[in-house]
Amino acid sequence: MRDEAFPQSARFGDKEREYLDEALRQNTLFYHKGVMTQRVCEQFCSLIDCEYAVTASSGTAAIHAALAAAGVGLGDEVITTSLTDMGTVIGILYQNAVPVFCDNLPDTYGMDPESLDKAITPRTKAVIVVHLAGNPCDMDSIMAVAKRHKLIVIEDCAQAWGCRYNGRYVGTIGHVGCFSTNDFKHITTGEGGIISTNDRDLFRRAHLFVDKGYRRSGDVGNRDPQQLCCNYRWSELQAAVSLAQLERVEGIAKIRHGLGQLLTRLIGDSTVISPHAVTPGGYCSFWFYLIRLKNGTGIDRDYFTRCVQAEGIPAGGAYIAKPLYRMTVFEDEAFFINGWPAKKLGLTDIHYRDVRCPTTEEIIRTSVYLPIHECFTEREIQDTATALQKVSNALYDSPQS
Ligand SMILES: *Cc1c(COP(=O)(O)O)cnc(C)c1O
Repeated sequence: MRDEAFPQSARFGDKEREYLDEALRQNTLFYHKGVMTQRVCEQFCSLIDCEYAVTASSGTAAIHAALAAAGVGLGDEVITTSLTDMGTVIGILYQNAVPVFCDNLPDTYGMDPESLDKAITPRTKAVIVVHLAGNPCDMDSIMAVAKRHKLIVIEDCAQAWGCRYNGRYVGTIGHVGCFSTNDFKHITTGEGGIISTNDRDLFRRAHLFVDKGYRRSGDVGNRDPQQLCCNYRWSELQAAVSLAQLERVEGIAKIRHGLGQLLTRLIGDSTVISPHAVTPGGYCSFWFYLIRLKNGTGIDRDYFTRCVQAEGIPAGGAYIAKPLYRMTVFEDEAFFINGWPAKKLGLTDIHYRDVRCPTTEEIIRTSVYLPIHECFTEREIQDTATALQKVSNALYDSPQS
């Protein structure tokens, strides 16, 4: 159907070069001595409307710092979903806490609030909600559950730049938000992360945690850590690129939002596929678009995907091949060299091999990944929809090889 490759666009331009030059001319690239990181924090806070920001070396580092700041430690349970990046859970394990997985919703792919409620035990300390693909989770329901059980809510906003829920930017609804600027996200600094919060204590503790526990003021500050922290700092080079990228982010999110909405309209009321549903009250910035093959069509997902690819559309299988709890490190509980402290101390009896999240597994088994990008035009979306229609018609009620 389509011969032409899908377009790509330049991610960096004169603005990035200008700020990088400015950063280099400071004669320091240390975040605390230069001004670029401070400017990023101010720009970020005004963009998403929050009080405090802390920059970090990655989204994973941001989440780890948020957990540490929230006081998550040995044997605490942290509930999250398994249709996500390892970065969501790495910090939980490094805090010697226990990742507990609840189910996803079948149409928006966000955390299922009822499944969250059922997963809560007296050991539960925090929840990490993942706004997958820039689609906000059902935050009203999740916050209500969290409030009832006095849980800290961390929002994993790594894929959710530009995403809003009932008019509020994600990362400002829970207690703390964590963004990523790695090379694959809406905006990038190569590697990087930003933490958002309106809580002064969380801000202070997160800031200490990413910077060795040093209290920064004046030239170096007070270097007498009160607890074990990390060096998760980023440099003024990342800040310089971030300043320019933050200026682009609203435009990028808006185009992706429009293209995703268009694809949903074009898919319409298909008998074969379900569109990527947006959470009610949500503004989705479509980091990707995930369709599902409906139950009862009898169509094999991998075969369907290959057919769509053969039409010239760069489709893929599910966003990830298996839920996190099926990855080797979880199945073998191979988190640490000398065994898993939480298990050895009898603080958990979880066996990840026995964990099952039926809806998450169903999503992974039946979904097809479709790219959305700010450099696409309506033509790419139209072609995608036409290919989906053509393949659906051909495979529905017809034998497969
Ligand atoms: C990318 C990503 C992360 C981790 O971010 P890094 O910057 O790569 O560490 C965490 N959670 C989700 C959902 C992500 O997509």
